[in-house]
Amino acid sequence: MYLCVMANILDRDIQYLAGIGPKRAELLRKELDIHSFRDLLYTFPFRYLDRTRIYAIREIEATMAWVQIRGTVVGISYAGENRGKRLVATLSDRTGRIDLIFFQGIRYIEQKISIGKEFIVFGRPSSFNGSLNFVHPELEDPETALSQGQTMTGVYSSTEKLRNNGIGIKVFSKLIHNLLQQCLDQIPESLPEHIRQRCGLISIRQALRNIHFPENLQALEQARARLKFEELFYLQLSLLKQKNVRMRHGSAPVFGRIGEYFNDCYCRLPFELTNAQKRVIKQIRTDMRSGLQMNRLLQGDVGSGKTMVAFLCAAIAADNGFQTCLMAPTEVLAQQHYQGALQFAGNSGLKVALLTGSTKTKERRRILEELADGQIHLLVGTHAVIEDPVQFQRLGFAIIDEQHRFGVEQRARLRYKAELPPHILVMTATPIPRTLAMTLYGDLDVSVLDELPPGRKPITTRHLSEKHRSALYRFLKEEIKKGRQVFIVYPMIKESEKMDYQNLQNGYEEIVQEFPAPEYITAVVHGQQKNEDKAHDMQLFADGKAHILVATSVIEVGVNVPNASVMVIESAERFGLSQLHQLRGRVGRGAEQSYCLLMTGYKLSQESRQRINLMCSTNDGFELAEADLRMRGPGDIEGTQQSGLAMDLRISNLSKDGPLLNYARELAQDILQQDPLLERPENKLLTHQLTYLRTHCEEPIDYSRIS
Ligand code: ADP
Ligand code: MG
Repeated sequence: MYLCVMANILDRDIQYLAGIGPKRAELLRKELDIHSFRDLLYTFPFRYLDRTRIYAIREIEATMAWVQIRGTVVGISYAGENRGKRLVATLSDRTGRIDLIFFQGIRYIEQKISIGKEFIVFGRPSSFNGSLNFVHPELEDPETALSQGQTMTGVYSSTEKLRNNGIGIKVFSKLIHNLLQQCLDQIPESLPEHIRQRCGLISIRQALRNIHFPENLQALEQARARLKFEELFYLQLSLLKQKNVRMRHGSAPVFGRIGEYFNDCYCRLPFELTNAQKRVIKQIRTDMRSGLQMNRLLQGDVGSGKTMVAFLCAAIAADNGFQTCLMAPTEVLAQQHYQGALQFAGNSGLKVALLTGSTKTKERRRILEELADGQIHLLVGTHAVIEDPVQFQRLGFAIIDEQHRFGVEQRARLRYKAELPPHILVMTATPIPRTLAMTLYGDLDVSVLDELPPGRKPITTRHLSEKHRSALYRFLKEEIKKGRQVFIVYPMIKESEKMDYQNLQNGYEEIVQEFPAPEYITAVVHGQQKNEDKAHDMQLFADGKAHILVATSVIEVGVNVPNASVMVIESAERFGLSQLHQLRGRVGRGAEQSYCLLMTGYKLSQESRQRINLMCSTNDGFELAEADLRMRGPGDIEGTQQSGLAMDLRISNLSKDGPLLNYARELAQDILQQDPLLERPENKLLTHQLTYLRTHCEEPIDYSRIS
C-alpha cells in the first residue's frame, strides 16, 4: 500500500525553496508551523485586496472589505488637538464625497496631497459618527496605480517575528510565487477526472495558482470551490470508508432476544416512553442484533430521556448474557446515574454496581470479583471503569455519557476490555450542529431524541442585572416558600481561577446572609473541595434538604434534581451559549414552571448581548448550537477542543459550507456504494490519496480511534 505513494515534490523541506535558507526555514517552522512545500502552498490568504475594480463613492458601505475608489481632493481640514489631532481630506468623485482620516504621519500626508489632486484610494471603509470614511487608506497616483495592473492580492497572516525578520506580506507573497514557479507543473492531480467532471471543478494546479493569485473574483471562487470540495470530500470519504471496513469485519455480540430483565424493568416504568425514545430503542436494537459493532451517537437535549434509553438497552444486553458499563465524566454524575440505575432495576434481578475513584478498597475488590464472574450486569462509574484492573466476564455494551469529556484514548481502551468489540453508545446533551456532527462523528450513526417527555413547561428565561438583585432575592424566597429549590452558578474559567473562587466565595457569603439558616439551608459545590464535601453537599441538595445550591459549573452536566425550578447564572456573559443551555437544562425537569435567570454586568460586548438575547428567545438546543457555530466557529464549540478533535480544516468552514459538506458526503457515499473498497481503476486515485493524506499530512482526527 505504502509503496504506491509516489514521491511528491510537495513533501520537500521548505528550506530548499528559492529565497529560503536554513534561517528563514526555521522561522517559518516556528512561527507558522510550515515545514514542507505543501505546508506553504496550503497556507492560503485570509483575505484579498481587490484591485480589479474601482468603486463609486456612492456604492461604499461600512461592511465592505478593502475597496478602491478614485477621486479628487476637494477639502483639507484638521480636527482634534495634540495627540488626538487628525487630518481630514475630503475626496469626491461624480457620485459623492467621502472623508479620508489620518492620525499619524500627518506631515507626510500634507506634502502628498493638495486640493485638486486626483488619487486612487485603497482602504477599508468604516463608519464614524454616522458617516462613512477611510482611516489611513493607501493613496496612489492614478497613473502609477493603473500601470501596476489590476489584480487581486492575497493577504497572509503573519507574525511580528516574521515581519521583523524580513518576511512581511510582500516577501511572503513572493515566496509563494517562487514556489508555484518551481513546482506547479509537477503537482499531481488529486481528484479523479470523473469526479472533477461531475462536479465541474477546475484542476488542482489551476486551483492552487488562483487561490494565491486570482485574476479576478470569479477565478478565486472557482479555486475556493475546488479546494473546499476536496477537503470536505476526502474527510467524508475517509470517515465513510472506515465505517465500511468496520462493517465488513464485523463480528460483534449479537443481542437477539428480549427477556425477563427488559420486560420487568420496562413494565415498571412509571411513564410511557416518548415516541422518540421508542424510535431510538428500535434503531439500537436493530444494530445490536446485526452481528456488527454498533457505534452510535445519541443526541438529545437535556432531559429528553437519553439515560432511560441507555438503561433499557443495558437490560437487553443482560438478557443476552452480556455486561454493560456506563461511564460518566464526573463522580457526582456517576453517583446520580447509579441511583437512577438502582431505581430502574428495582427488584428485577438486574445487578448494578458503582465504581469510582473514591470507592473504598474492600468494596472495590468485591466489585472487581463480581464483575469478573459475571454477577454484575451494569457497572456505572467514572473513567475508573476502564482502568486496567477492571476485568469484565463478558462486556458487550458500553455507554459513554457526555462524550466530549472523555479522551479519545480512554474510549479506545474499551476495545480491549472484551473479546468481541462491545457495542458503543455515546450520549451527548450538547446538541451538535449537523455539519459538525458529520465531521466529528462522521463514522458514527446518529440518533436524535427530538421530543421532551410530556408535561414539561417551557423554561422562562430572563436577563437581569445588578439593579434587579433585591427583586431577584425576593423572587427566590417566594419560590423556596412554594417548596422549590434554587441553583446559583458562578463561572469558573481557568485563567482567572483565583478570582473566580473569590467571586463564588463572596457570592456564597452574601447568599448565606440573605438567606439565613435555619430557615434556609444553602449547600455549596466547587472544584477546590474535597470529594467527600462535594458529594455531601450535592447529596444534601439532591435529597431536598438544602434549598439553595451555590456552585461552579461543575453541575453543568447531567445532574438531575426535578424539584429545582430556578437556575440563576451569575456573570452569564462569561459563559458560552451551549454551556448556558446546559445549565438551563438542570431545571424544568418537574411539572412546575421553571426559570433561568441570567445575571450580567451592565457593559456587554455585542456578542455577549447576542448570546443572552438568544437564550431568552429560544429553548431549542439545536437552534442555539447552530447559532454558536455561526458566532464562534467550530474550533470554539464546546467539546471540540477538549476532545482533542480540534478542527483543522484549512479552507472550508463548517458553519458556512454546510450544503457543500452534504454534497461531498453524498458523493462519497455514492462512490463507496458502487465500489466499497475503492478498487476500480477510476477510483485508484482516491485510495492513493487517502493513504497519502493519512501518512503525509498532519491527521487532525484519528478516526480509527474514536470508536
Ligand atoms: P437525559 O439523560 O436525556 O438528560 P434522563 O434520561 O436523565 O434525560 O431523563 C430525565 C428525567 O426524565 C428523568 O427523571 C427520567 O426518569 C425522566 N423521563 C425519562 N423518560 C421519560 C418519559 N418518557 N416520560 C416521562 N419522564 C421521563
Ligand atoms: Mg443525562
